[in-house]
Amino acid sequence: MKGKSPYIGVFIAVSLLLAVAASGCISTGTKEKVLVVGTSADFPPFEYKNASNGQITGFDISLIKLIAKKMGYDKVEVKDMDFDSLIPALQTGKVDVVIAGMTITQEREKVVDFSIPYWEADQAVLVRKDSGIKVSSVDDLKGKKIGVEKGTTGAIYVKKHLGNSSTIKEYPTYVAATEALLNGQVDAVVLDSPVAKMFSKKYSVEIVYTIKTGEHYGIAVKKGNKKLLDGINNALKGIMNSPEWNKLVEEYFGS
Ligand code: GLN
Repeated sequence: MKGKSPYIGVFIAVSLLLAVAASGCISTGTKEKVLVVGTSADFPPFEYKNASNGQITGFDISLIKLIAKKMGYDKVEVKDMDFDSLIPALQTGKVDVVIAGMTITQEREKVVDFSIPYWEADQAVLVRKDSGIKVSSVDDLKGKKIGVEKGTTGAIYVKKHLGNSSTIKEYPTYVAATEALLNGQVDAVVLDSPVAKMFSKKYSVEIVYTIKTGEHYGIAVKKGNKKLLDGINNALKGIMNSPEWNKLVEEYFGS
């Protein structure tokens, strides 16, 4: 038998290839086009769980749905995870894009690609309302216990500037960090200013200082996924230059 019909192997290989190609054609013709989105739903008003039905909603979620629609996707599937799992999820292909109030940084740009910026933020210092803690410079946080969310620009900032002089506690989410603040486990939480503002409306906490970090949020894709990134940028530009943008801003931030 050996060497008798080398063509059989070739025949099988070609048939398999044709079958795969055919099934590919059929499925692209009928299958829904789904954009898988990674986020960390503890960052209101950008992404959070709706209190009544637990659904993930927010400015970022509505924005990515609009973008996906403009790009011809049928559906957006949202995967919720801790903030520091988002970039690994992009890299392993678990999600196609990340939208999570994520700051464009040089470090992150080494491992993922970002869209054009769509929002600006600074870091705010949040304390309990009854704490009496006054902060007029970053130095005033020396010797304090500070809560942050793991992997964020807030965490990176406090570690860099206060790592030797303060106790820094890292939490998986900003909601957990804020709960730690409320029950006295930490004296302050450092987090993005728009989110701190929302938390100060919801919890008995207040912003006592803003660190002007001048951050810009971007939508992230896997490094090198130019086609997807170009599509996102085109759609995003269109939305930002249309009345849709103001509608979104009003819906989630008030006027
Ligand atoms: N903007 C901050 C960062 O990129 C925090 C984002 C977040 O917690 N969702 O690190």
